[in-house]
Order: sequence, then structure tokens, then C-alpha cells
Amino acid sequence: MYTGIFDTHAHYDEEIYSSYADALLNNEHRYRGVDLIMNIGSDLPSSERSCALAEKYDFFCAAVGVHPMNTGDLPSDWLDQLAGMTKRTRVVCIGEIGLDYFFKQPEKKIQQQRFIEQLDLAEQLGLPVNIHDRESHHDMLEILRQRKPKGVLHRFAGSPDMACSVVDLGMYIGVGPEVTFLNEKNRRESVRRVGIDHIVLETDAPFISPTTHKGEPCISSWIGEVAETVGELLSMDPQEVINRAAENGRRIYNI
Ligand SMILES: [Zn+2]
Repeated sequence: MYTGIFDTHAHYDEEIYSSYADALLNNEHRYRGVDLIMNIGSDLPSSERSCALAEKYDFFCAAVGVHPMNTGDLPSDWLDQLAGMTKRTRVVCIGEIGLDYFFKQPEKKIQQQRFIEQLDLAEQLGLPVNIHDRESHHDMLEILRQRKPKGVLHRFAGSPDMACSVVDLGMYIGVGPEVTFLNEKNRRESVRRVGIDHIVLETDAPFISPTTHKGEPCISSWIGEVAETVGELLSMDPQEVINRAAENGRRIYNI
């Protein structure tokens, strides 16, 4: 069994866990080596639920933010609401925020505006960010170059060259269960290129699981399998991968 796992991006407030969340999370922490989990907001209600998880479990921290897909219809005081939530227990990050052009909704201009507003909020509050980027790599890199936020591009899916550019800006890439899939050549090459000093581990639970658990809602202890793949790619012991990635995460999020 591995120890010291820091899952830097999870959604344990999702409905799918509701009937067994307490037992699951306590087992993950007590018996399966999970030291710390960051629960991420994707809109105002889930940000609120992330804060509640960090208040309930001492091995949770929280991120609050509005996911690009949810930026279409927000109350006028949404930024004030987010800022208010950052005062709560172990809220360490603004996320997940970013761009997602996959469904072409909401329109790009709105997504960009909301993303930049949340980057500005993070800067004002001195907090790092956790960024979502799907099918929007070009615009993403441009905004990152202009704004230079601190934090992580989660479930990094860009090219290995983009990974290096992100790291040159002082940011980190989030590596999750997809890296265990043999056909994910770009993700694997990105890990090789940036190395252990610029990586954090994550699940994006429940949405994606490693090869051996495909189709099941993901849980944080399966990060062990992510670390095994990263270990193969970097010729490192998986436990050392977990330790170093957790140190990176704690430094970024100041925990
Ligand atoms: Zn997520």
C-alpha cells in the first residue's frame, strides 16, 4: 500500500457518492494511504459543498470557482460570493476555472471574460488557481502568458511543447488516470518532458478511472496506479512519485 497520497482535484460532492461517501472517505484516509484531497467547485453550489467537505473532514481542503461550462448564467454578485467562501476553513484555491470549447457553449467571449475575472480574483486574494482547458489550448496559453497566474493546469491534455511552456511560466501540470492508458501518448510524453518537479497527481473523481477500473467511479487511492505509470515514465519508485508530487501540491496550495 502507498502512503501520503494528495489527490489535488476531486469532486466528492457529486451525487454518485452520496449514499456511501462517509464510509468511503474514512476508509480512503485510514486504510488506503490518502492523506489529503482537494475538492473542487464547478459552480456556486458545488463550491459551497466543497467548503462543507473541508469543514467536515480534516483531510480535505477546498477550491471554489466556476467551471467554464457554467459561466453562462450567474448572479450579479457571483464574484463576491466566491470571495466570501475563500474565508472558510482550508479554502486554498480558486478552481476549477478556465476554457472549454468542446460544446461551443457558452460562447468563447463569455468564457474568457469569466476566466479572467476569476484569475483577477485569485490574484487579489493571493490564491493559486486550478485550471480546466479543453479544446482551447491556443487561447489558454495566450491568457496564461498575459496573466501569469500561479497554480495547475489540471488533467493536462495539451501537447508536450505546451506542457513545457506552462512549466516555463512557473505553473504545474495535473496528471490523472488517463496517463495509465497506453494510447495517451501526448500525456505520457508531457510527463517525461516536464519531470517530477512540475507535476501534481489527481483523479478528477468520479469522472475517469485508471485502466484496471474503467467504468467505475474513481476514488483517490487509485492514484497509486497513476504513480506507477509516472514512475515507469520517469524511472522512479511509485512511492517517491507520490511523495514528491504531494510536496509540490502542498507548496502550490500552501498547506
Ligand atoms: Zn474536475
